Amino acid sequence: MVRAEMLDASRRSRDTATIVNDVHSQLNATRVANVVRPASLDGLIDAVVAARDTGGHLSVAGGRHAMGGQQFAAGATLVDASRLDRVLAFDRGAGLVDVEAGIQWPRLVRFLHDTRGRSPRSRPAPTA
Ligand SMILES: Cc1cc2nc3c(=O)[nH]c(=O)nc-3n(C[C@H](O)[C@H](O)[C@H](O)COP(=O)(O)OP(=O)(O)OC[C@H]3O[C@@H](n4cnc5c(N)ncnc54)[C@H](O)[C@@H]3O)c2cc1C
Repeated sequence: MVRAEMLDASRRSRDTATIVNDVHSQLNATRVANVVRPASLDGLIDAVVAARDTGGHLSVAGGRHAMGGQQFAAGATLVDASRLDRVLAFDRGAGLVDVEAGIQWPRLVRFLHDTRGRSPRSRPAPTA
């Protein structure tokens, strides 16, 4: 989402606040201003800049499983990291895998399983 759209979304969100919660316990219902789901580093930067420009606050959630409520902040923009889920590089020899911050175990395990027995491969970092 481009920055102007983020600002519009932030303004609209005053009337369309969203309730978010832990996926399992449902013990931490929190009304956030809006939820953004960036799919790239640039999208994440847009969210941070928009929050700065509107004087808003940010919180970050992944799987929303922690059950402590720490992933939510009332009235803030919730950055949902679930689309930042790419494997960026894999060095089999060194045993190192470089991933985006929103990746979850099933995708990572699938990647490692799929590369088993093959030559090490890596994917270039996304550009946009
Ligand atoms: C019933 C239960 C059982 C559990 N069992 C286990 C277990 O067996 N093993 C284990 O290791 N853990 C376990 N946990 C802990 C839980 O799995 C961890 O807290 C896990 O890290 C939550 O990940 P999440 O993606 O759901 O994070 P969220 O709940 O979305 O967020 C947790 C914290 O991480 C921050 N965060 C989330 N995503 C990002 C990001 N991309 N960048 C920066 N900060 C981020 C949030 O702001 C928040 O502070 C358990 C928890 C519960 C409630």
